[in-house]
Amino acid sequence: MSLPGPVLRACPVAVALSVCLALTRVAAAQHTETRTTYHVVNPPPCTNNKGETVRFIDRSSGGVGAAAGMAIRDRSGQPVVFRSNFAATPPEFQSFIDRHECAHHQTGDVDRPPPPQNSPEYLMTESISDCIAILRLRDEEGYDRAALGKVAATMRHDMAKIGFPEISISSRIRNIDNCYTKYGAPQDFINGVLKQRGRP
Ligand SMILES: [Zn+2]
Repeated sequence: MSLPGPVLRACPVAVALSVCLALTRVAAAQHTETRTTYHVVNPPPCTNNKGETVRFIDRSSGGVGAAAGMAIRDRSGQPVVFRSNFAATPPEFQSFIDRHECAHHQTGDVDRPPPPQNSPEYLMTESISDCIAILRLRDEEGYDRAALGKVAATMRHDMAKIGFPEISISSRIRNIDNCYTKYGAPQDFINGVLKQRGRP
C-alpha cells in the first residue's frame, strides 16, 4: 500500500517550524539560564478520525530544547505523536501539547496535504487543535480557570522565549480562553470540524 502525498505533517506546539532558527538562538542563550526539569506526565488516550490508536513516543534532545510535539505517521504508516523535551515544561503544558497533537490526528490534519506555513488555513488548523486540547483538559481532566491560567502563562513564557511577537501570543491565548468558555464537549467540536470538511 502506498501512502498518499505528503503523509508527514510536522507541528511543534510552538506553532511554526519556521521558528527553528529562532530556537537555535534561544538554545544558545539558555546555556546561562538555570533550567528546571519536570515530571513527565502520562499521555492521554488518543484515537484518530479513522479509529486508529495513536501512540505517544518520548524523545529528548538530551540537551537544551523547548518542549514540543509532532503529529505524524511513522514509516510504517502508524499514527504517532513525538514528544520532545517534555521535561522542560510544566505538567499542565505537557498535557496541553499532547492533546493539541492528538487533535491533529482526530481532525485528520495528519492525512491531508499540509497548508502553507502561516497561511490562514494553517493558522486555522492550529486554532482548532488548541481548542480541542483545552476542551479535553476542561472536560476530561477538570481543568478550572486556575489551571487554564497556568497553561496560558506557560504558553506565553515558551512562545516569548522562542521569539514570537506579542500579537501572536495574545491571539492564541484569546482563542483558547474563548473555546474554554463557549464550546461544548470536545467530541462534538471534532465532529463539527469533520463535517465541515466533508467527512462523516
Ligand atoms: Zn499544531
